[in-house]
Amino acid sequence: MFSSKLYILVVLIVTFSSPCYSQIDFGYDDQSTWPGICTTGHAQSPVDIDVNPSKANKHGFISSESSIKGDSFKIRNTGESVTVRLLEETATGLFPGEGLSSTKFCFDNAHFHWGSSSKNGSEHTIRGRSSALEVHFVHYNCEFDSLKSALDSGRQDAIAVAGILCDINPSSKPNKALSPIISQLQAGQLKTPSGDFTTVDKPLDLLPLVPKRSFVYTYQGSLTTPTCNEQVTWFVFSSTKSCKVSESDLKALRSIKNSKGHQVRTNHRDLQSLNDREIQTLKLHSQY
Ligand SMILES: [Zn+2]
Repeated sequence: MFSSKLYILVVLIVTFSSPCYSQIDFGYDDQSTWPGICTTGHAQSPVDIDVNPSKANKHGFISSESSIKGDSFKIRNTGESVTVRLLEETATGLFPGEGLSSTKFCFDNAHFHWGSSSKNGSEHTIRGRSSALEVHFVHYNCEFDSLKSALDSGRQDAIAVAGILCDINPSSKPNKALSPIISQLQAGQLKTPSGDFTTVDKPLDLLPLVPKRSFVYTYQGSLTTPTCNEQVTWFVFSSTKSCKVSESDLKALRSIKNSKGHQVRTNHRDLQSLNDREIQTLKLHSQY
């Protein structure tokens, strides 16, 4: 028979194991209460990226195999963000084993981080500058069969996340690539958190958000939500040229509610110390 302590432990293991899907109630107001390694770790994310891009010592490209699209998509309000999934066959992700990384990573989900005002919102900052939105393309090492088993392996190369920073479009035009997602939010379909994904029978292609030319900053870090596992290789794109958003796009994202019924006005984690980590710079060339 389960003792109540053991039961709690089992629940914690189950709920703590999935980034940006977690069922743990955590808020952004008091991040010092986040569990475990979130507050004790030394390789946490996000960080301020304060490096000189002219020191780029490596070259990368977006492979022609890269694809983040589908004829339909699945979407969910996790209570902390909006998460999107696509069919595996049509969404190979950004790391097919060449270009950005020689390790093959499988695409799992895209989700978003924003702020209460468009002056901030991105998790990573570049030389102290915030963007209005940060899109995360989460991938797991294809040696594993899922994001969960990649994390459970404990390996440092379990996860790769591409972070795309988006600024406000001066012409206030909504973002075309994001519009199938934003229109779901504007229709009020995802107001309350749900454990289940809703299928939307509309095509979605998120690759246009990814800059074709950019510096890409790469470093070893963590998930930016509890349990903050230090198993993530980050690829943060310096260029915001491909991703411009409008205030109405941001308003739609901020309209989702958490499990307490409060609006998620902000969901970006505070900056973490770089400590002794090194950030490398890739110079990205277009190949798609
Ligand atoms: Zn994220």
